[in-house]
Amino acid sequence: MPEGDTVWNTARVLQRALAGARLTGSDFRVPRLAATDLTGWTVRESASRGKHLLLRLADTDGTPWTLHSHLRMDGAWRAYAPGERWAARPAHLIRVVLRSPGAVAVGYHLHELALVPTGEEESLVGHLGPDLLGADWDPDEAVRRLTAYPDLSIGEALLDQRNLAGVGNLYKCEVLFLRGLSPWTPVRAVPDLAGTVTLAQRLLAANRGRWTQSTTGVLRRGGTSYVYGRRAQPCRRCGTAIRKEELGDRVTYWCPLCQPERE
Ligand SMILES: [Zn+2]
Repeated sequence: MPEGDTVWNTARVLQRALAGARLTGSDFRVPRLAATDLTGWTVRESASRGKHLLLRLADTDGTPWTLHSHLRMDGAWRAYAPGERWAARPAHLIRVVLRSPGAVAVGYHLHELALVPTGEEESLVGHLGPDLLGADWDPDEAVRRLTAYPDLSIGEALLDQRNLAGVGNLYKCEVLFLRGLSPWTPVRAVPDLAGTVTLAQRLLAANRGRWTQSTTGVLRRGGTSYVYGRRAQPCRRCGTAIRKEELGDRVTYWCPLCQPERE
């Protein structure tokens, strides 16, 4: 599930594969960019902001550009050695191919693919709240933004990337379990919002650098979460069956005993 840590890891893969390289070819398979050719462009750096990927480039005149992409639920970037078979996903999902002397980066099922002057990056990511994995992570600002909508459920508020950037459904469910909060609790009734956003940051940060997302410390399959993906299984703390229900436009998992509703 591409959450902030997955996107951070992906940015690092692209950084290792392409940073400093001069592109020897590109192939965009989305209509809007079909005529774009990045041959001769240099890759300056790869960065993430929340769940957005920013591949910063310089064109042949040295003008800075940013290739933006979003993984949403199903997107991915892979780096291959030249000549290696592109085996990660079916070819019809490919949206862009970037070739360099040392590596080929292939973007699968990418969303919001856009090439903009780097000076205009803010038009794509300026709405985001503080990035949990950014150098400028600011828990006070995240709390300030959350409290602006006090009647919204904490489950929905944590997923709103305008409040804080990087939490997806998995971390939302897990943070709320660990804090003993029902996902339906209104923001105004959360006793320690600062503690909640700080825990979210710690969970994402702990999973940087690996592809297995674990909030329990267990990396073994079936042991990586407390509630997420565990409908009808016993709560690891109290044994009650974990429940799954719709909340907003997403499903949420929670333990009704460990996460009592409060007003
Ligand atoms: Zn429980």
